[in-house]
Amino acid sequence: LLCAAQDFDFFYFVQQWPGSYCDTEKSCCYPTSGKPDADFGIHGLWPNYNDGSYPSNCDPNNPFNPSQISDLTSSLQSNWPTLACPSGDGITFWSHEWNKHGTCSESLLKQHDYFEAALSLRQKANLLQALKTAGIEPSGGSYSLSSIKGAIKDAIGYTPFIECNVDSSGNSQLYQVYLCVNTSASDFIECPVFPGGKCGSDIQFPSF
Ligand code: 5GP
Ligand code: 5GP
Ligand code: 5GP
Repeated sequence: LLCAAQDFDFFYFVQQWPGSYCDTEKSCCYPTSGKPDADFGIHGLWPNYNDGSYPSNCDPNNPFNPSQISDLTSSLQSNWPTLACPSGDGITFWSHEWNKHGTCSESLLKQHDYFEAALSLRQKANLLQALKTAGIEPSGGSYSLSSIKGAIKDAIGYTPFIECNVDSSGNSQLYQVYLCVNTSASDFIECPVFPGGKCGSDIQFPSF
């Protein structure tokens, strides 16, 4: 080929609300570095196609190598904390994300660039501040889907997709926020396609 084939169309940049990861039936475990801040954390930066499908595990010959991102470890611990059980230092989570998703954009972003890009996007997208500015607080109250989306659009400039999950009592709650990003992972864009999944009409925003 004369030029590298376009291996994906855009990224989803996905952040998770720790309160909604932890108050489920499955529960959670804090990282070995301690309880994360009550703030959105990175889940991943996921290459995606415009038709809604996505590539995964693209290069088994380029597995996660923690020594390549040792300078980013403390920033990753704060901004990309792991909440799965058993407690870990984050390496397992970051490794999973690199191997499953990061290898699918490796022609554009080497490992260090990939994690650096995600951290930079996190700094540009302060979701908690966006929501609080609109009076949407993580204190167990319920909000409409449109008020949550509107608050994020007003602050970030782009319409997000909201993913809900269910707490241990069965309430629908704000779990993950998807923003779309260009293929160089430098700027947010309007989403070419949204993922699927339903939220109830009243969406809880639990504390953490
Ligand atoms: P779930 O099935 O829980 O929604 O997603 C499980 C995992 O599949 C996600 O954490 C992510 O790794 C991947 N995934 C789910 N939906 C999408 C999507 O729309 N695009 C991409 N790139 N990955 C996704
Ligand atoms: P994905 O859904 O991205 O394909 O997979 C997420 C994987 O990372 C799962 O194996 C999950 O157990 C692990 N993991 C570790 N920490 C976290 C976390 O804080 N949030 C989520 N969603 N998954 C985590
Ligand atoms: P509309 O595009 O007319 O706003 O919404 C069409 C359908 O998609 C409605 O059922 C609406 O609840 C759902 N929807 C719109 N935006 C989101 C979102 O960000 N997250 C989820 N889970 N559903 C959405």
